[in-house]
Amino acid sequence: MSGKDVTEVVLADAAGIARAARCLESGGLVAVPTETVYGLAARADSAEAVAKIYAAKGRPDFNPLIVHVTGVEQAARYGVFSPEARALAEAHWPGPLTLVVPRRADSGLADAVTAGLATIALRAPAHPAMRALLEQLDFPLAAPSANRSGFISPTTPGHVLASLDGRIDLVLDGGPTRAGVESTIVAVRADGRVEELRPGPLSIGVRGSGAHIEAPGQLASHYAPGKPVRLNAEAAEAGEFLIGFGKIAGDCTLSASGDVTEAAARLYACLHEAALASQPRIAVALVPEGGVGRAINDRLRRAAA
Ligand code: AMP
Ligand code: MG
Repeated sequence: MSGKDVTEVVLADAAGIARAARCLESGGLVAVPTETVYGLAARADSAEAVAKIYAAKGRPDFNPLIVHVTGVEQAARYGVFSPEARALAEAHWPGPLTLVVPRRADSGLADAVTAGLATIALRAPAHPAMRALLEQLDFPLAAPSANRSGFISPTTPGHVLASLDGRIDLVLDGGPTRAGVESTIVAVRADGRVEELRPGPLSIGVRGSGAHIEAPGQLASHYAPGKPVRLNAEAAEAGEFLIGFGKIAGDCTLSASGDVTEAAARLYACLHEAALASQPRIAVALVPEGGVGRAINDRLRRAAA
């Protein structure tokens, strides 16, 4: 199955999950719900299947993929887990934390997954449908966000279809995602040092060195809505679609009560709406930095870049 043309959508019930498992086993592409955003999954041990992810997304081949696993036991077959890395996995998995660790030479995964790096990014997601799916498979899933490269991440099956309809085999419909922004990415160095590569829903109290770009998802203009974006707006100017927050009500409002968690869950839905709106420009109200606010502002700065 991969002539594509028609992308099927199935509910993430037992039958739908079994269907997705068969499709992935035969090397297909399935959009899957996670607690962060929808992922575009393929079996990570098949070079052919992984190549389809890059082709469907139009993703540059130097941008590696996150490998999704059931937990630290499976993860340790593909990456080297120092005591520090193991402690982080045990504390936060399943959950929205991706760990970048040294790649095992005998991992048996497609080289394209790690784009030639000596490290591998691993995560055990918490979404019940994704977990049930991973439990049924005897291979891990490579899965970047289920959108065309460079565009806005999907938090609903509708967002997935808007950019990938006809280019993938199946969408497993688990409804809107809960956290709304991509996982926190943290690298655990050989000497045990921990460095944040991308802020996300989970704050573990470390920051990146900022010395060089290691996660290409950190490149500016990675989350582009295709229109100019003005930040810290207090009101819409002529021709602007306003994304509001708190007291500033917009054409779409992230959280009227000023709750950053709610704002994160609605961020990409508002950006998708803004991208489709008739207004040629987008303005966004100030969102505070606390908690997941830091990840929201990280994505907004990239959308504006
Ligand atoms: P996406 O799932 O689309 O958010 O993309 C996955 C993110 O993980 C991208 O920003 C990648 O650059 C990053 N990533 C994947 N593997 C690695 C790795 N080995 N080292 C650093 N970053 C990685
Ligand atoms: Mg992405």
